Formats: sequence, C-alpha cells, structure tokens
Amino acid sequence: MNADLHCHSAVSDGTLQPEALARRAKANGVDLWALTDHDEIGGQQRAREAAGALGLPYLSGTEISVTFLGTTVHIVGLGFDPDDTQLRDGLAATRGGRRERALEMAAGLAKVGIRDSFEGALAYAGNPELIARTHFARYLVETGVCSDTSEVFRKYLTEGKPGFVPHRWAALADAVRWIREAGGIAVIAHPARYRFTANEEAALFNEFIGHGGRGVEVVTGSHTSAEATRYADVALEYGLLASRGSDFHGPGESHTDLGALPALPAKLTPVWTALHDRIVQPG
Ligand code: AMP
Ligand code: MN
Ligand code: MN
Ligand code: MN
Repeated sequence: MNADLHCHSAVSDGTLQPEALARRAKANGVDLWALTDHDEIGGQQRAREAAGALGLPYLSGTEISVTFLGTTVHIVGLGFDPDDTQLRDGLAATRGGRRERALEMAAGLAKVGIRDSFEGALAYAGNPELIARTHFARYLVETGVCSDTSEVFRKYLTEGKPGFVPHRWAALADAVRWIREAGGIAVIAHPARYRFTANEEAALFNEFIGHGGRGVEVVTGSHTSAEATRYADVALEYGLLASRGSDFHGPGESHTDLGALPALPAKLTPVWTALHDRIVQPG
C-alpha cells in the first residue's frame, strides 16, 4: 500500500493547493492519501473531494503543534470527523497566537537589519491565520538574505537566533484528546526530529500513550533510513501503529515527493489497518 499520510497545502505552509496535491499524489501512485495542514482543517473538504474525483481513497488529517517539556512536538491526527466542534475549536485556539508571534519574529529580524519581514512572510501565506516560520524563510530567500530555506532556519529562525520567538502551543493531552474524541487516531510525527534525551523521549511516548495516542511515524521524509529503522523498533517496543508520510511542502522545497517513500518494515502494523471504516472511498 503506497499510503502517504503527511503533507501540507497552501492552507498551511505548503505551496500547492489541495487539488494540485491530490493530482500529484495520484500521479505518483499514492493509493491512500491524507492532507495534514498545521493546526488547520480548512483544506479537508477540498482535499477529500479532489481525491474522490480522482479515485483516490482519503483519510482526514491535520498536524497539531504541541509544547512538551519546553519543546515543540508535532502530533498528526488521522481519520477524525472534520466537523467535530471540540477539534475545530482546539485547532483554532492553537493557531490563534500565530499572528502576534509573527509580529514578534519580524521585530527580532528588524533588529538585525531585516525589514518588512512580517508583510513579506504574510504575502507567502495562503492562509493569513497560519503564518509560519516557513513563510519567513521563503521571504528571506526571495530577498537574497539566504540562499535556501534551511540556511534561514539555521541562521535566523531556530532557538537563540534573531527571528526565533518561543511559543506555547497546545498541551499534549489536549491535542491527543481532540483527535481521539473526534474518532481519529493520534500519531507522533517525525520523532527523530526532536532533541530529547532518552528519558524525555520515553516520557513523550509514555504520556502520549497514557492520553490515548496510538501511532508513530516511522517512514517519513523527515527521517533517514537509520532513523526509520530505529523508530520501527520503538513502535514495536511501545506497541504503536506505524505511519508513513512524505511531509511534502512543495516542489523544489521538499526533497521527498508525495508517495516517494520506502515501505514500512513488514514487522509493523500500519496505522491504516485500524482506520478501515474512516477511509473515504471514492465514488
Ligand atoms: P512553525 O509552525 O511556524 O514553527 O513552522 C514550522 C515549520 O517550519 C515546519 O513544519 C517545517 O515546515 C518548517 N521547518 C522547521 N525546521 C526547518 C528547517 N530546519 N528547514 C526547513 N524548514 C523547516
Ligand atoms: Mn511545515
Ligand atoms: Mn512537523
Ligand atoms: Mn509536517
């Protein structure tokens, strides 16, 4: 099964519209797809309808920003009811502080001589409620401050750098509950990306499971093959379902394209086996 259960549209910080992503997923041989915009499900209906028109089975998705032990952790939700009020309100609250954060980021960048970055980033944001560091990164590349977005993150947008603003996102318990009570499955996104100690990582997994979280991303565009191997073992150790997703944000920006991922290791139980009745079948 070529499932791709993690990607972003212009409704968050991707560059393609949901319809274009659906076409790209289909063309790349994806046979189960989920759009997982950050803190936002405003693109779900468009994605589901576009997938349906292409004969592509679809799962609802989102990627919730969480603060855990002072670090930002991402929790993917799959197969939830997109009309669930608690989930909708929780996502709205989570993304609510982004504008003020972006203004503070721009003030920090102005101090090192980078002007007008709020307006510049906003021009890249397809959804003004979802202004993200990614949009600042695109603006700083456009204006020649850096040559690519990873250089922008390294020099300006990560902890201790001029455009970094600490932010409190959702609580882990809340994010997992919103997803679960909307009928979906919560999944820890790209676990190798967090800079946790072994004890902190164990706390993340144990608390996540304690709150009813059931899955972990193993094969993702954000993991090396060694990291996928390691988190395959972690999935087995904790008895978690395994997910697979490119984390595609757009052509020319993401090195892993939609559907272009290795298979999940055969010893794992794929998350979609627990989501049969949540898959939107076309036609
Ligand atoms: P935000 O939610 O505003 O903090 O933005 C987080 C987003 O920035 C992530 O979802 C990625 O799309 C992007 N991002 C984070 N770190 C990097 C990096 N080192 N290089 C490129 N993009 C990154
Ligand atoms: Mn992103
Ligand atoms: Mn993420
Ligand atoms: Mn993502």
